[in-house]
Amino acid sequence: ENKDQKFVYDFTEGNKDLKDLLGGKGANLAEMTNLGLPVPPGFTITTEACKVYLESGTEPVALRDEVSAHLDALEQKMGKKLGQADNPLLVSVRSGAKFSMPGMMDTVLNIGLSDKSVEGLAQQADNERFAWDSYRRLIQMFGKTVLGVDGELFEEALEAAKHTKKVTSDTDLDAADLKKLVKQFKKIVKAETGRDFPQDPREQMDLAIKAVFDSWNGDRAKLYRRQERIPHDLGTAVNVCSMVFGNLGPDSGTGVAFTRDPASGHQGVYGDYLQNAQGEDVVAGIRNTVPLADLEQIDKKSYDQLMEIMSTLETHYKDLCDIEFTIERGQLWMLQTRVGKRTAGAAFRIATQLVDQGLIDEAEALQRVNGAQLAQLMFPRFDESSKAELIGRGIAASPGAAVGKAVFDSYTAVKWSRSGEKVILIRRETNPDDLDGMIAAEGILTSRGGKTSHAAVVARGMGKTCVCGAEELEVDTKRRRMTTASGTVIEEGDVVSVDGSTGKVYLGEVPVVPSPVVEYFEGRMHAGADDADELVAAVHRIMAYADRVRRLRVRANADNAEDALRARRFGAQGIGLCRTEHMFLGERREMVEKLILADTDEERDEALAALLPQQKQDFIELFEAMDGLPVTVRLLDPPLHEFLPDITELSVRVALAEAREDSNENDLRLLQAVHRLHEQNPMLGLRGVRLGLVIPGLFTMQVRAIAEAAAERKNAKGDPRAEIMIPLVGTVQELEIVREDAEKVIAEVEAATGVELKLALGTMIELPRAAVTAGQIAEAAEFFSFGTNDLTQTVWGFSRDDVEASFFTAYLEKGIFGVSPFETIDKEGVGSLVRSAVQAGRATRPDIKLGVCGEHGGDPESVHFFHEVGLDYVSCSPFRIPVARLEAGRAAA
Ligand code: PEP
Ligand code: MG
Repeated sequence: ENKDQKFVYDFTEGNKDLKDLLGGKGANLAEMTNLGLPVPPGFTITTEACKVYLESGTEPVALRDEVSAHLDALEQKMGKKLGQADNPLLVSVRSGAKFSMPGMMDTVLNIGLSDKSVEGLAQQADNERFAWDSYRRLIQMFGKTVLGVDGELFEEALEAAKHTKKVTSDTDLDAADLKKLVKQFKKIVKAETGRDFPQDPREQMDLAIKAVFDSWNGDRAKLYRRQERIPHDLGTAVNVCSMVFGNLGPDSGTGVAFTRDPASGHQGVYGDYLQNAQGEDVVAGIRNTVPLADLEQIDKKSYDQLMEIMSTLETHYKDLCDIEFTIERGQLWMLQTRVGKRTAGAAFRIATQLVDQGLIDEAEALQRVNGAQLAQLMFPRFDESSKAELIGRGIAASPGAAVGKAVFDSYTAVKWSRSGEKVILIRRETNPDDLDGMIAAEGILTSRGGKTSHAAVVARGMGKTCVCGAEELEVDTKRRRMTTASGTVIEEGDVVSVDGSTGKVYLGEVPVVPSPVVEYFEGRMHAGADDADELVAAVHRIMAYADRVRRLRVRANADNAEDALRARRFGAQGIGLCRTEHMFLGERREMVEKLILADTDEERDEALAALLPQQKQDFIELFEAMDGLPVTVRLLDPPLHEFLPDITELSVRVALAEAREDSNENDLRLLQAVHRLHEQNPMLGLRGVRLGLVIPGLFTMQVRAIAEAAAERKNAKGDPRAEIMIPLVGTVQELEIVREDAEKVIAEVEAATGVELKLALGTMIELPRAAVTAGQIAEAAEFFSFGTNDLTQTVWGFSRDDVEASFFTAYLEKGIFGVSPFETIDKEGVGSLVRSAVQAGRATRPDIKLGVCGEHGGDPESVHFFHEVGLDYVSCSPFRIPVARLEAGRAAA
């Protein structure tokens, strides 16, 4: 804790760029204040204060005095004191981290009310009911979030009060009822905590601030951060804001608004308004809202002002903004704004629209979209011509096509999905307690709430299919079923299909069709300008920007002509990895078996000779598909036993045959070979270059096939650009031996065909020793391709085939890493080896070609890293090529 550190900022002191310090909410409240927009005055306690608290367990020493000074200033501005008996200043205490974590942390409203000031508020507002309702809400919220009282107890008391009075709505309770309820609530607090509800307003405020700090480490918040990959050490800011009330009567209300439609990107009036209510009522989806456009009829002055503010905000932020506002007796107040979440499709459309409006340039447009969104747009959709029974329709809250078994609670969703079932989580509405279930589900369906309800906001954030507010569906979570308007009952376990792009809900499984974006990449759809193609046109433009600026080339991992052709259509600039072992599967497996079982040189040569023409044909097809572009062919990599029968099965077969005295010579030989080749750690055993070195003729057969195929393509006026890649090299000596043999074969083929081949020879860097000695290895390699799958496996000592299913969940939960290192490159460990190998390789051979062909080559975050360390290309599976192109562009822009 630094002595001169400032822990509290007035809204007039901050700005939108201070999100690290003030959190998103605080930074934007400050920005709006400084834009001259009507923001209720207040101040923000920094994330630094939170960090000190989280680390040391106590608030920074200076915090109390700073808060006092800012509170004094606030009281002066407002002309009343916090909790003042005859005219109380009330404040809200709200969490607000750098990244939005909707509903995951705590907020307390109406701080400053007490047995005394509630009377003052009643007089000031000339509304006794309102004052007691506000006090009731304070005790309830404070009791639950600050004092840790079970919220159900308050809910039950509230329900009981309504029951006694024989009414159903909270609003039917009058001041006298609410007074009684306050008494009861205070009793609950006393009974549950052993202390009275604090009457001192400053004590209320201090406790609420501490509770917000603590809520950073609540279970919900931690789970959400892991899911969203938000670092755990950021802490939250706390916003203390003077209260304005949307529940003072019909001339008051609260709402949320978007400056554009977050689903389509179209400009217009989008949002929800709830008359005579407080903000939390809208987000929780408790009562049904009216469309924002209706506000024009309800309160024209506020509506016009809001429209003007929205246009100011959009021009200022140069992006879609979402807004929370409250109208208190005809006076409009802005409670929050931020650059709004949007669907993947809208992100692309909005980015190009803003370019057209001259608000942003192409480089900025690239930053407004990302590879994860593009990947989402490439998901298949429901077949609209399907005759599936439509059982309901709600709001298309988050796109995608999800099919699964209906479950009605989060627990079952998690349980079933763990056992491999696909589930749809169906709730009346969701709340932060449903987060586990939402993560586990394929899709989410709710019967209440709008586009800004919890379900909608969280699902959009996760990229998960969601339909909300499907009102004609009656969800009965207690009996685990849902009833449609026509009376059909859907029980737990029945299959439903949910279309998050149209809001439609179907009974049974609906077939899916490819996405228009994939159709476009496939060349089956062109980027026209009409409305249906709007999305495709936007994607087309953004991809063109990315291709124009990116430095990294993008290749495909493909080992047959079909995949190669698709990759090419998707924009691949070559093949970065052809795994030849994939060419030895199927019926050719027996040919490999013969090779392995060969006892004599003749038998082995015979087996190799049989494989040669097949391999050659494979390569001819591949070189033709990729004509004019580089094709990196990797020589055989996996352990040989993968081509032999399973040891246990074969042992049983042989034993049974022996028992029947019916032994088969071939099986016996096979079993011997299987035993001979059996390894405890096959991934660290006889594979890769080691195979090439111990099985004479194997690699040279493959090199011959490549060379002859290339010669044949050249003779057919083709332009084959083959590169031969040696896997699992650990030392330059291995490579030198293979190289010498290969060069001999290539020279033979050149002499025999009279064609000059110019085949490049290189290696994979996928062992720590290779990375460390990359400078030496580069003497014998014209290119490196980083095999980050094996490199991750060997650097961490993690078996790539086992760990993700065994202990990674525990590691992720403990925060040891936020994402599997097999998915996103571990920059500090594996990445640092890549970085130094790049430098060493270039030092030895300045024109060495450098790429990566592990799974990381198609992972957005990893692509940025590979750009930064200076690779020449990334190689990934065909479907990820557009994502890699986009991210390579974003990295360079
Ligand atoms: C790698 O190890 O990263 C690689 C691309 O090779 P494979 O996945 O085939 O082992
Ligand atoms: Mg490998």
